[in-house]
Amino acid sequence: MAFEGLSERLQKAFSGLRRKGKVTDADVREAMREIRLALLEADVNFGVVKDFVKTVREQAVGADVLDSLTPAQQIIKIVNDELTKTMGESAVPLNKSPHIPTVIMMAGLQGAGKTTTVGKLSRYLMENEKARPLLIAADVYRPAAIEQLKTIGDQLGVPVFDMGTDTDPVEIVRQGMAQAALQHNDYVIIDTAGRLQIDETLMTELDNIKALAKPDEILLVVDSMTGQAATEVAEGFNKRLDITGVVLTKLDGDTRGGAALSIRAVTGKPIKFVGQGEKMDALDVFYPDRMANRILGMGDMLTLIDKAQKNYDEKQAAEMAEKIQQNSFDFNDFLDQMDQISNMGPMEDILKMIPGMANNPAVANLQVDPKDFAHMKAIVYSMTEAERTDPDLLNPSRRRRIAAGSGRPVPEVNRMIKQFNQSKKMMNQMSKGNFAGMEGLMGN
Ligand code: GDP
Repeated sequence: MAFEGLSERLQKAFSGLRRKGKVTDADVREAMREIRLALLEADVNFGVVKDFVKTVREQAVGADVLDSLTPAQQIIKIVNDELTKTMGESAVPLNKSPHIPTVIMMAGLQGAGKTTTVGKLSRYLMENEKARPLLIAADVYRPAAIEQLKTIGDQLGVPVFDMGTDTDPVEIVRQGMAQAALQHNDYVIIDTAGRLQIDETLMTELDNIKALAKPDEILLVVDSMTGQAATEVAEGFNKRLDITGVVLTKLDGDTRGGAALSIRAVTGKPIKFVGQGEKMDALDVFYPDRMANRILGMGDMLTLIDKAQKNYDEKQAAEMAEKIQQNSFDFNDFLDQMDQISNMGPMEDILKMIPGMANNPAVANLQVDPKDFAHMKAIVYSMTEAERTDPDLLNPSRRRRIAAGSGRPVPEVNRMIKQFNQSKKMMNQMSKGNFAGMEGLMGN
């Protein structure tokens, strides 16, 4: 899995800090040493590591961090923020031309995933902007590349302009652009030739295509699995072509993380997308903050929060918080909560986004049966209104009646009531700022 080694080593550095009641300068120094090694081992560019560690250390040894009640948490936050900054702060959208077509020129070494990414990007634009792209096959050195692009075009229903392998790529681009103008395509995506490594002939050709096509976007496709080399490739292409963005591919593999963390800092150019699989839908916008979370092994909390926000009614949430605080959370509220959670998608997917859960083998193999939810609801529905608002009324004879009414066995009714009482207690404690019980829950 991507970033696995890096995540583990960073977690280790943090758990050293977490164990200490009071964190000293020396503890911070030790943690920084581990973070530095972790980054270097993950193939992060040396200069980037140096700057990163220096900035984090300066912030971490600040008196207010070390004297705070939660120094470890604060240092994790500093590292998280700094990782985000190193990768560019926020997502950078594709450049767009004020008039059609917007021209996107793709570049990259052979095997980086350029042709595949052309397909993924067309699909992305069609899905998100109802775009009508034209693809231009200008990789004449690898005959299979043209066929590959045509296959992808057929699969997606996107036209591909090609002139075989005997025409000069610049001429192909000229004629392809003319066709796009005739057909009013809103995007032109040019698939250019790759090489095994950067060479002068390739760069001259790309320069010429750039001069003719005047692309709004020059996207360099680099393979994240190549680590340090990916950063060097990005630097090389950028010096010559002044690229406008990077697509980092194969993030679904066991990449160590170096490229994701170095490219922005070294080239000054944003990573705009990441490829996370071979299929056409495996392209995602690159969010530095989410990637930082992922690298820290914190799951994808932001996506979870996004999902929660989409399904959450703020007023209702405030009322719920109030009830929890006053310990008046009842079975009617419990039903509301279950409905909200059901709206967020399959339970096992939600759980995996919680920090520490993604790599937890218990969760990895977990299948939450939607029937369990339905059973819980059936039990609550079988309670009287008085029982729902005052769960203390639930004596054994009432429980037997509820079991009969819901068609569930008595032990299951008992178990659910017990779990309800436990979570109510835990939520109440948490609302008072007592998180003591949480560590165990998070698998730390
Ligand atoms: P090109 O030579 O740069 O045009 O590279 P291709 O598009 O032909 O891709 C090379 C190989 O990498 C193909 O087998 C692709 O399926 C694969 N590939 C491309 N992007 C990804 C990705 O994000 N994840 C994975 N796992 N494989 C990818």
